[in-house]
Amino acid sequence: MSEVEFLSDEEQRLMCLKKLRILDTPVEERFDRITRIVCQSLNVPVSAISLVDRDRQWFKSVQGLDLFETPRNVAFCSQAILNDDPLIVPDALKDPRFCDNPLVTGEPGIRFYAGCPLKIGDTYRIGTLCAIDHLPRELGEADTVLLRDLAAMVVSEISNMALSQAHEGLLSELKEVERSALIDPLTRLWNRAGGEKLLDREWNAALRHKSPVSFIKVDIDRFKQVNDQYGHDIGDQVLKHIAFIIQSSLRPYDVAVRWGGEEFLIVLPGCDERPLRQALERIMSAIWALPAATDKGDVAITASMGAVAAYPKAGDDVMKLLKKADLAMYMAKSAGRNQYMIDEGEDNALLSD
Ligand code: GH3
Ligand code: MG
Ligand code: MG
Repeated sequence: MSEVEFLSDEEQRLMCLKKLRILDTPVEERFDRITRIVCQSLNVPVSAISLVDRDRQWFKSVQGLDLFETPRNVAFCSQAILNDDPLIVPDALKDPRFCDNPLVTGEPGIRFYAGCPLKIGDTYRIGTLCAIDHLPRELGEADTVLLRDLAAMVVSEISNMALSQAHEGLLSELKEVERSALIDPLTRLWNRAGGEKLLDREWNAALRHKSPVSFIKVDIDRFKQVNDQYGHDIGDQVLKHIAFIIQSSLRPYDVAVRWGGEEFLIVLPGCDERPLRQALERIMSAIWALPAATDKGDVAITASMGAVAAYPKAGDDVMKLLKKADLAMYMAKSAGRNQYMIDEGEDNALLSD
């Protein structure tokens, strides 16, 4: 059996892992979901999200094994984090690195192993998402791509977990009276002043963690007409309804802000363009599917949205990005409303659908 190999930045890697405050935390559905998908889609009995600590590998999530850690010196994952590419061992008994490994010769009888490193901030490989079988087998190209994609999802979940601390941080810093001054009394979302504080924090957290962050601007279509037709009180009820729809379409660590009259800002930490598009679709279809139930009956509402996804760099101005989301939103308006647009880069915003 090979000795445990370390990379030269092992201490920094361990520091990065510790800072994430994920070791020895409870199981979470959002991680278990991913290991379940690995088992089902790759048709393997065992899958784990393994985090490689100094002397052990610890499983944030594991399917098909009744243990939460193993010593590091027997961990396949400890080998897998030495490189960026997935480590694939078709038959451990025929591999000199693993043939005498007690996890191969004894319980749980590993024969096939595929582990994709989990790379944080594009720098430190803190562990792997792995698939294990008791029989030898190969991993095809499509399955390798799938494993990489799912590993990227694990990384984004892990980064999100750290980022949501920006939200918690602000909450814990504020006294009750300060907090209430930052909450919009109608919708109970953050008001603009609260949103601005949070924006700064999320932006700096994304910069520190080298994670993406996305922004969505939502503006209700022809809202003045709602007020004119049904009155201001009903308008208020519609605003509350839209706030509810937005909030219930978001992940727990996303932040919704009532930015102005009938305008909302959504901050999505750890979210790049693909999940951003999913969030937009989710919000769009929820608004479309559920009219506002008001005292004067159902009021059908549409909204236009503009969005931007970014990897913050030092010196970037978050307000400039918000302007891009604004601009995309105005383009959605002038393209006929009831749609979203995503800013696609430096100077162009493309139609999304
Ligand atoms: P567009 O599709 O271009 O966005 O049209 P719009 O009518 O939504 O936009 P406009 O800016 O012309 O009107 C916004 C309206 O929102 C006008 C204002 O009276 C109303 N509004 C702003 N804040 C509130 C509020 O707190 N309650 C109610 N009921 N109405 C509000
Ligand atoms: Mg407006
Ligand atoms: Mg409007």
